[in-house]
Formats: sequence, C-alpha cells, structure tokens
Amino acid sequence: MTDSDSETGTDSSSDSGTDSTATTAAPTAPRAPPSAIQRTVSALPAPCRGPPRQRQPPPSAPTRRVTPPVESAALVAWRRASNDPEATCTLCGGGPEDPFHVLSECTHPAVAAVRSCVTSPLALARKIVWICEVALAASSTPGESPGQQAASKAAAAQLVSGLVAVFGVTSDGTLVEGASPPDWASAEMRTVLFRFLAVLPFPASAAAPGHGVVRLLGTVFDRVTAKAHKLRPVANAWVGFAGAAVTSIFHAWNAAFDALRLERGG
Ligand SMILES: [Zn+2]
Repeated sequence: MTDSDSETGTDSSSDSGTDSTATTAAPTAPRAPPSAIQRTVSALPAPCRGPPRQRQPPPSAPTRRVTPPVESAALVAWRRASNDPEATCTLCGGGPEDPFHVLSECTHPAVAAVRSCVTSPLALARKIVWICEVALAASSTPGESPGQQAASKAAAAQLVSGLVAVFGVTSDGTLVEGASPPDWASAEMRTVLFRFLAVLPFPASAAAPGHGVVRLLGTVFDRVTAKAHKLRPVANAWVGFAGAAVTSIFHAWNAAFDALRLERGG
C-alpha cells in the first residue's frame, strides 16, 4: 500500500519536470520511462540522496574491570585431583588422588569426619530411600491393565521395604529400630556412595558378585519408566543434595591440603 502510493507520487512529479524541460530544449528522441528503481530512488528524502554524511564515532564505552571468576575450593581441589591420575592422595597416601578417593575413600580425619555426616542415616541413607520411592511412584507403564498396575505397585512397595531394611531408615526419616546402618567403608558401599554423590543411576547388571545393595538399587532404577517432568522433583532433590555433599567433602580435603602445604613451607 505504501509502496504503491510512493510510486504514484514520483511518477507525477517526474512527468511534470520532463514537460517543463521539453518546452525549452531541442527536440530529442523520446526518453524511456523511469524504471521502478529510478522511481524509488527519486522518491527518497533529500538527505538520503546527498553526499554520505560523516559518521560520528560512537561514544567510548565505559571501561569495566573484568574480575576473574572465583573458583570454589571444591572446584580447585577437584581440578587438582583430576590433573595427575598417577598421584596418590597427598593427605592419606591410601589411594589415587582422584574424585572417587576423595569422596568415598580418603581416611584423613577431617575428610572422614565430613563424610560421616554425609552418610548418616538421616542424610544420605534417607535421601536414597526417598529418591527411589518417589521415582518408583512416578513410574508408569502405558497400557497396563488394572491388575498389572496393582502388581507393579506391589513390586515397588517390596523394593522400598527392602531399601528401608538395608539403610535402616524410611523416606520420612523414621529410623528402623534394631537396624544396623550400612558400612560405608566397604567396597560395595563406597561404590554406592560415589554413584549417588555423582548422581549416576546404574542398572542391576552393574552389581559385582555379592553386591546385593547395588543390585537392589539397580533393580529400582531398571523399573523406573516415567516422563522426564515427573522425575524433576527427584532430579532436583538428588542434584541439590549431592552438590552440597560433594562441596563439603572437597572443602574439607582442600583445607587439609592447604594446611599441610603451609606446614611444609608452601
Ligand atoms: Zn586420601
């Protein structure tokens, strides 16, 4: 609509100019009508057809001081622990200085103390039971008959009962009377600890011979089939807990490392 109006106005002004010139100039061959491009250029406002204007340099942007990102002590320790796979733990010398060792094995008293808080029944064990229970509750298999759904619920409840018996605590934090907590220093529970702190679900087939807890947890993960949005509360709780736990353990390891370095003269 606008283009059409513009072209019409250009035509009329151009025609009138041609007529006034024709009355004073010598007769010449009739000129071809202006092309669409010529008409468009003619219709442009005068400033656009003049000589190019000098551009003013843009105002200089205010200088900003860029501060380097502050790395957390845990991240520094993690990077240091990951850089040299051959190094043994500076603090205890009991294993490779890697994330698995720091999180689940290191026997330095400061690190072990923080880890014992993380693995207390009302912290990690309760969280594991909760994660499994909620994930199983969110799980569903399309097309199941009412009978199959009831069987699935019963199987899920049996798995949760098994977890409560193993970890000695329910998802709401009720301690099971007479239950003995798992030995988090055993090879099997170190594996469970690392995988939960690293937010790594695993299948039942990942269990080594004799690792019944790994097999039980893997069976739970194998049964979970749910849409992603239904597992979001589980993911949020799991990542939040694991992130805080990893940070606290690495912070303890890093602080002990720095203290040892100062003691040795830097
Ligand atoms: Zn160590």
